[in-house]
Order: sequence, then structure tokens, then C-alpha cells
Amino acid sequence: MLDNIKVVLVETSHSGNIGSAARAMKVMGLSNLVLVNPQCSIDEQTMALASGASDIAMNAQIVESLDEAVSDCGLVVGTSARSRTLEWPMLDPRQCGEKFAIETESHPVAIVFGRERTGLENHELQRCHFHVAIPANPDYSSLNLAMAVQTLCYECRVAQLDRDAAAYAKPPAMEYPRQQELELFYDHLEKVATQADFINPDQPGQVMNKLRRLFSRARPEAPELNILRGILSSVEKKIKDK
Ligand code: SAH
Repeated sequence: MLDNIKVVLVETSHSGNIGSAARAMKVMGLSNLVLVNPQCSIDEQTMALASGASDIAMNAQIVESLDEAVSDCGLVVGTSARSRTLEWPMLDPRQCGEKFAIETESHPVAIVFGRERTGLENHELQRCHFHVAIPANPDYSSLNLAMAVQTLCYECRVAQLDRDAAAYAKPPAMEYPRQQELELFYDHLEKVATQADFINPDQPGQVMNKLRRLFSRARPEAPELNILRGILSSVEKKIKDK
């Protein structure tokens, strides 16, 4: 699912940042990098900072406009250090990761990062369904571009791992006794309780109803019911032997 996340960098001017962003992506399992009208070339600096993630920088798709970059995406999230004049639906990084983990199951999504000096322009932010701000120090909230990429890619990974774990952690379907087996158990219980003179057949009272309520609440699984049946049989045998 992480392959369905596009990391879009708009008009990046430092080639090293592209390399660092590629590395930030690869360590978190993302691979889809799109550069919108980059203001630098993919150079030695890019490769040096990408380190083992140079493949991601090399394979980055280069396009001319943000529209082109996100045209196939069903969800586009823009990043910004500060809230703009315009009110916009906001996500925090965690919510963004969770939303991506869900939506990437059905369509590509994009997370868009701005220019090092000036961020994203308002018309670009307006292309986005949501904005996400990393809740940084209000007195100095602007992260280096690649570090912002790192933070958000991390959230995407954690949310994806959580989602995978939740899918695997589903408890195996319990084997519960069928209604017919339960009725046989109640008959057996009543018979043994009567043989043991706990229940007086002429005045049985509410004992069996209360026991039914108890076992309904406990909802014994099939193997547990077998144990109970076994105990009843042993008691029954002892009574007979006496
Ligand atoms: N002065 C610019 C800072 C740009 S930093 C501005 O105020 O927008 C470069 C890019 O890094 C930003 O466009 C954004 O994509 C990302 N970024 C930096 N700090 C961020 C933060 N606190 N939350 C979300 N994205 C951030």
C-alpha cells in the first residue's frame, strides 16, 4: 500500500534535499517520488545524500505542474508549517498516516511538499483536500524539507503497520457449541443435579434458569463444554457406583 503514496516535491531548489528526501522515503518503505518543475538538477549532491536510496532519486518522475503530478490521485494532502489565511480542513501527521493507510487500498494518494524558502503557494494548497502541519515549536516551526518528508513518511509507515497488525490480530473464529449440544448439556446438568438431590424434581425452582443464564453469559466454547460434560459423566458414574 505504501507504493500507492506519491511524495510530491514542488520546485525544490537544493539538489541535496531531493537526495535526503529519497532516503527519508526509502527507509520508511515509500518509493514513489515526483518532482514538480525542480529548480536544480539531480546531481552528485543528490546521490551523496540519497546514499542507498539513489534509485528513488534516479527514478523520480519529473513533471511540469502540480496538476500533472496528482492527476491520478484520489486524495491530495498539502503540507505547510504555518496555517494560512485561508481556513482549510486540517489533519495532524498521525491522522494523515491513518487516512493514507485506508485510502491507499483503493487509489493512489499524494502528499505535497513546498519550496525550501517559500513553501507552497495558496493556489497550490487549494488543490489539496487537506492540509497537514507538523506540530512543531510555534516560535520556529519550519522543518528542513527532507525532515518534513521523513516525519510524514514515518507516520505513513506506522499507520500501515498498525493496519496490517490489526488485520492479522483478528482472533481466530471461536468454535462454539451448537444449540442442540447446549440443550443436551442442560439436560445432563439437570439430570445429575437431580440424581445428587440438589434439585428436587417436585419443586425444581429457578435453578436451571439461573444456570442457563450463567452459561449464556460465559458462552463456553465447544472444548470447554466437552470438559463440563465429562465432569457430569464422572459424577454420574460415581453416583451409580455407590
Ligand atoms: N517558509 C516556508 C517553509 C518551507 S519549509 C513556509 O512557511 O511554508 C519547506 C517545506 O517543508 C514546506 O513547504 C512543507 O512542505 C515542509 N514543512 C516544513 N515544516 C513543516 C511543518 N511544520 N509542517 C508541515 N510541513 C512542513
